[in-house]
Amino acid sequence: MTLTDEHLDDALAPVLDAARAAAPDVDATGRFPEEAVTALRGSGLLGLTLPADVGGMGGGPQALARALAHVASACGSTAMIYLMHVSAAMTVAAAPPPGHPKLLGQMADGTTLGTLAFSEPGSRSHFWAPTSQGQASNGTADAVTLDAKKSFVTSAGHADVYVTSTLAPPENAAGESAVDIYAVPAGRDGVSVAGPWRGLGLRGNASSPMTFQLDVSGDDRIGPSGGGFQLLLDAVMPWFNLGNAAVSVGLSQAAVDAAVAHASGSRLEHLGESLAQLPTIRAQLSRMSLDVTATRSYVDTAARSLASPDDGTMLHVLGVKAFANDAALRITDAAMRVCGGAAFSHHLQLERYFRDARAGHVMAPTADVLYDFYGKAITGLPLFE
Ligand SMILES: Cc1cc2nc3c(=O)[nH]c(=O)nc-3n(C[C@H](O)[C@H](O)[C@H](O)COP(=O)(O)OP(=O)(O)OC[C@H]3O[C@@H](n4cnc5c(N)ncnc54)[C@H](O)[C@@H]3O)c2cc1C
Repeated sequence: MTLTDEHLDDALAPVLDAARAAAPDVDATGRFPEEAVTALRGSGLLGLTLPADVGGMGGGPQALARALAHVASACGSTAMIYLMHVSAAMTVAAAPPPGHPKLLGQMADGTTLGTLAFSEPGSRSHFWAPTSQGQASNGTADAVTLDAKKSFVTSAGHADVYVTSTLAPPENAAGESAVDIYAVPAGRDGVSVAGPWRGLGLRGNASSPMTFQLDVSGDDRIGPSGGGFQLLLDAVMPWFNLGNAAVSVGLSQAAVDAAVAHASGSRLEHLGESLAQLPTIRAQLSRMSLDVTATRSYVDTAARSLASPDDGTMLHVLGVKAFANDAALRITDAAMRVCGGAAFSHHLQLERYFRDARAGHVMAPTADVLYDFYGKAITGLPLFE
C-alpha cells in the first residue's frame, strides 16, 4: 500500500495531541515526554521509513520530513527523540546485526526505541572519529570489549537499544582508524547513564552522557568490522541531516504561527490598532514567513533528491541541515523581537522554540562543520583530509 499524506496525518494526529499537551511541562521540568513517546510507539510511526517486509510503513524521505516538521511544531524534544530513533533504525536496516534477527521488526512496531550514541569527549562534534577503542577479547576482531564514554546520547536511559561506535581493535585489518558500529541492548550489564541532562533547549530529550563498558561480538556489529565510517556516511548522515533540517522547519513554522497570532491579536488600545498594523512588525512577519517557506522548499528538494539519488544528492545532504538550522535561528530570533516582552515570558511558548532551535545547529555534524564540508565539496577538496 502506498503511504499517502492523509494516512500519515492520521497516524500523526494522536502523537501531535499528546506532544502538544505535554510540551510546556516537558520544557519546564526537563522530563522525558513519556506520553508522546508512548503515542509514537503505538502509531506505527517509529517504522515510518522501514520497509513493509519488516513491518514498517515504507515511507521515504519526504514522508519523514513532513512527519518531523509536524512533531517539532508540537514538541521539539519529542521530534528529536523520534529523529534519533529513525537514524538508528536506518543504520540497523543498512546492515542488520546477525545476532538480533527481531530487532528491525521491533524498531518498526514500536516495541524498541533506538538512538545513536556516537559523540565522545575526545573528538567532540567530530562524530565520525571516535577516540575510544575496542579491545579484542580473545584475539579476534569478533569478540570485543567496549570501553567508550559518550558525551551526549538523546533518550539516554529511555531507549531500548543504543547504536554506538568505537574504533575497531588495533589488530583490525581495516587499519588503525577503522570504526565499528554496534547495536547494544539497554539491558546489558555495562551500559549506564553517566550524568544528568540539563539543556538550554530540547530540555525533555534526556541527552545525557553514557558509558559502554561491556563485551560485544560480531553478532552485535552493524556491518563488517571496520565498516562503520562508510555506514556513518551512507546510512546515518542522509537521514539525520534531512530529519534535523525538518525539525528546524517545524520549530520555525511554530515560531511564525505564534508571532502572527500574537501580532494580529494584541492591541495598542490608545492607538486603536493591533501590533500587526505597524508596518515594521508586518515586514518582520513577512520575512519570517518567506524564510520558512523557502527553507521548507529546500528541505523538500533535498528529500526528493534522497528518494531518487543523483549527482547533486551529496551536496543536498551536506547543505540541508546547515541551511535549515540557520534559518531557524534567524526566524525564532525575529519572532522574539516581533513579540517583545510577551515573547520573553513563557506564556507564548515562543522562547521554547527559540531555545529548542539552537540545539539542531550544534548537533553533529554541526551547521558550521557542514558549511566547511559543503565548501570543500564545491571546490573539489576531499571532505575528510
Ligand atoms: C540537544 C543535543 C542532543 C544531542 N544528542 C546526541 C545523540 O543522540 N547522539 C550523539 O552521538 N550526540 C548527540 N549530541 C552531541 C552533538 O552531536 C555534538 O557532538 C555536540 O553538540 C558537540 O558539542 P561540543 O561542545 O563538543 O562541540 P565542539 O566540537 O567543541 O564544537 C565547538 C564549535 O566548533 C565548531 N567546529 C568544530 N569543528 C569544526 C570544523 N571542522 N569547522 C568549522 N567549525 C567547527 C562547531 O561547529 C562548534 O560551533 C547532542 C547534542 C545536543 C546539544
